[in-house]
Amino acid sequence: LDAIVAEPAPKPGLIGRLLAPTEAQRRALDDAMLEELEDLLIAADMGVETAQRVIANIAEGHLGKRVSVEEVKRLLMAEVVRIMEPVARPLPIYAKTPQVVLVVGVNGSGKTTTIGKLASQFRAAGKNVVIAAGDTFRAAAVEQLQVWGQRAGVPVLTAPEGSDPASLAYDAMTKAQADGADLLMIDTAGRLQNRADLMEELSKIVRVIRKKDPDAPHNVLLVLDATTGQNAVQQVKVFQELAAVSGLVMTKLDGTAKGGVLVSLADRFGLPIHAIGVGEQIDDLAPFDPEEFAAALVG
Ligand code: GDP
Repeated sequence: LDAIVAEPAPKPGLIGRLLAPTEAQRRALDDAMLEELEDLLIAADMGVETAQRVIANIAEGHLGKRVSVEEVKRLLMAEVVRIMEPVARPLPIYAKTPQVVLVVGVNGSGKTTTIGKLASQFRAAGKNVVIAAGDTFRAAAVEQLQVWGQRAGVPVLTAPEGSDPASLAYDAMTKAQADGADLLMIDTAGRLQNRADLMEELSKIVRVIRKKDPDAPHNVLLVLDATTGQNAVQQVKVFQELAAVSGLVMTKLDGTAKGGVLVSLADRFGLPIHAIGVGEQIDDLAPFDPEEFAAALVG
């Protein structure tokens, strides 16, 4: 019966793969072990530079010592937590309302889903939320956002297909201010095929909403898909050129072996990680917890 009802064995994390639990005895932390460890970090999408830095820090003071699996785990987790702690910050809330959040990211990264989840959380906290479906070129994206709006109990402002997103953003600002909304989230297009167009589109949105509030947008949230691994690094670079990215949401962290990319992002850009997506349901948005993340990554 045990064999039937037993939980499946947990997936071994990085260290499980380096030293199987049966080899729990101590092993010298030598160059060979550090190299193996570095390969594992790179395979988990931590990026070569960040992996090398982490390994160098672990080597310092421990090279040549005999270490147990648990000790290696602790050293690695401490390094990951040290890098991640400064970026683990919830979305900052400003006293002035409506707080305007511009949501950017490539198509498929999880923008729509994240907006829906955030709207639901803010609603649950008693906040008055408005969503603007600013990707006016994708009818399917607008429909999806309407579905999420219904789920979250939040109005979604739309405009005819192909119309100017900046004009919708302006109308949404007007409505959010008139309604005394606490939060306005503006979805945007994620077509990177023509960066010049997208840059112009985003800067025009910013220009018009600043006519209504010179401090807007208060946050520019870049949504990234964790399953794209190191590709996310490139996306941050591109979107930083297109808009003043102020923070990240990392989606699809459920069931990916590429979570190491978060360490790479934190190490390279230092942008706050406001939340993580851990599933497709409305409640599957969690605060980013460095300890929990490090434990799951290291295993
Ligand atoms: P958008 O094109 O950027 O607006 O992306 P969507 O919000 O439409 O999401 C693309 C796909 O990713 C959809 O199938 C979502 O259900 C899925 N998705 C979004 N966030 C998560 C997440 O955190 N975990 C998982 N497993 N799937 C997600």
